[in-house]
Amino acid sequence: MLSEIATVTHSTGGENVAERAREKNYDLVIVSLSMRETDGLWICSKLRSFEETRHVPILVVVDDCERGSKQLVRALEMGVNDYLIPPVERLELTARARTQVRRKRYSDRLWENFHLSMQLATTDAVTGLYNRHYMNSHLETLLRHARQASKPLSLAMLDIDHFKPVNDTYGHAAGDEILHEFAKRIARNVRGVDLAARYGGEEFVVVMPDTVEADAKMIAERLRQTISNTPFTLADGTNINITVSLGLACITDDVITTADLLERADSALYQAKHDGRNRVVIAKAA
Ligand code: GH3
Ligand code: MG
Ligand code: MG
Repeated sequence: MLSEIATVTHSTGGENVAERAREKNYDLVIVSLSMRETDGLWICSKLRSFEETRHVPILVVVDDCERGSKQLVRALEMGVNDYLIPPVERLELTARARTQVRRKRYSDRLWENFHLSMQLATTDAVTGLYNRHYMNSHLETLLRHARQASKPLSLAMLDIDHFKPVNDTYGHAAGDEILHEFAKRIARNVRGVDLAARYGGEEFVVVMPDTVEADAKMIAERLRQTISNTPFTLADGTNINITVSLGLACITDDVITTADLLERADSALYQAKHDGRNRVVIAKAA
């Protein structure tokens, strides 16, 4: 009956019907509750419990008898979306199916928009790294966890050297290209647990949980080299040498807040600039 509006797969039951529904992004599942081989309610409950099929619309077909109405109550409690009582008419079935599919498409779109706006809210468009707002709130959590577990935590602040002349010489679009590639190199050279974020224009922050100063220094040095060792190639083939300065700070007993930690890293960065750029400077303990 539905073959004109949909591609239909059917099954007469068996243990793994619900499991098979996980493999494809079905728009609608129709379950008869009067199958002899398989408990239709059991299939509905499985569909509702799997991550992949939790939101799939379910339409049940129930017999018009006492057993049928008991099953229907349980099915509706499980979150079944609609039901039909035989004899099933083509027009009615088509209309009900269309309604469910339309609802699913609408809610899929809502989820998509939600994920997109979450991504927009936490990441920076030019570099794809986390933005400053996300970094700040996540740093609070990381610092608290480090304190509670008496674990070390290090933070590097990076600032591209003499970036203004690069923009002035090659243009703002070229500058953006470099920022993009810069971020890629940084992301490639930190661990998955590290948090790399764009802090401002050409400033970046890398938070390294569970990392002592000596290790953080090694990582910072590696980051510095990954920028300075290979020139940046623009889309038009121009090669540009870029360097970066880094300030490093680790939590100590007198670092109380995330602001303290950022401030220390920033002072060390200032020192790195002052000392001639393209280097790593570790913040001195207060
Ligand atoms: P220093 O070594 O002292 O850091 O020198 P600098 O030129 O990098 O420092 P300054 O802070 O004077 O200039 C930063 C420049 O970064 C200013 C601006 O032209 C550039 N910039 C900041 N944000 C962006 C951006 O989103 N895109 C581009 N293309 N350039 C940016
Ligand atoms: Mg700067
Ligand atoms: Mg700079």
